[in-house]
Amino acid sequence: MNRIEGKIALVTGSARGIGRTIVEKLASEGAELVISCDMGEATFEQTNVRHEILNVTDRDAIKELVKKIKDEFGRIDILVNNAGITKDAPFVRMSEDAWDAVINVNLKGVFNMTQAVAPLMTKNKKGSIVTISSVVGLYGNIGQANYAATKGGVIAMTKTWAKELARKGAQVRANCVAPGFISTPMTDVLPEDVINGMLERTALGKLGMPEDIANTVLFLASDESSYITGQTIEVSGGLAL
Ligand code: NAD
Repeated sequence: MNRIEGKIALVTGSARGIGRTIVEKLASEGAELVISCDMGEATFEQTNVRHEILNVTDRDAIKELVKKIKDEFGRIDILVNNAGITKDAPFVRMSEDAWDAVINVNLKGVFNMTQAVAPLMTKNKKGSIVTISSVVGLYGNIGQANYAATKGGVIAMTKTWAKELARKGAQVRANCVAPGFISTPMTDVLPEDVINGMLERTALGKLGMPEDIANTVLFLASDESSYITGQTIEVSGGLAL
């Protein structure tokens, strides 16, 4: 199918896990080009994927990449802010380094990327920004005060973008996806009792797959969701934290 035919998409944190699956999904749905960005190397089989080394905390490198895309294509239609990290600790013992590192990637990284890309979208009066939040940003989670703050923060930023970026008739939309527990390298390191505890509180009784998130991102990236903005879609199998 060609649900995003001819679009130019940029996805961060896409060397592995959810981001990688999002890149593959968008590329398989008719995108002209999907630019995959990660700190690490990655190769993709699809010919309409280009991988770039990019750290979302590096504002100069982001500006340079966006300029390169603008010079070549004149537009970015879809931005997926997916790069994210965890540095968990009980709140009272959380180090300043753990706090700063997570804020810097998960919150400021999203600010950096969107601030660089949004002007292109508003100029073209069209675009879709999809940011990967988390159920932890909606409900909180023990040991994840830093992560929860970033994932709640991107939801609040998204609601603001939905208002600011749609001024003067621009059809620029911004939405979040809030995954529950998804089987990726990020969750593979969790102890078995933590996973089992999560499964007990998940109505569907299983972990989600990266494909479940990629399908929702595809919907929000495509024109099928053209009247949806400022929203957060929870994809958690009915998790009650
Ligand atoms: P992952 O750890 O498997 O992959 C994250 C990718 O981001 C890696 O390839 C890593 O190199 C990249 N990355 C990290 N820091 C970066 C930076 N500064 N610049 C560029 N790239 C960077 O993680 P995942 O499980 O695929 O998670 C993807 C997103 O989904 C994250 O935002 C995460 O918070 C969110 N999420 C995941 C789950 C889950 O259960 N896996 C649940 C809720 C939300």
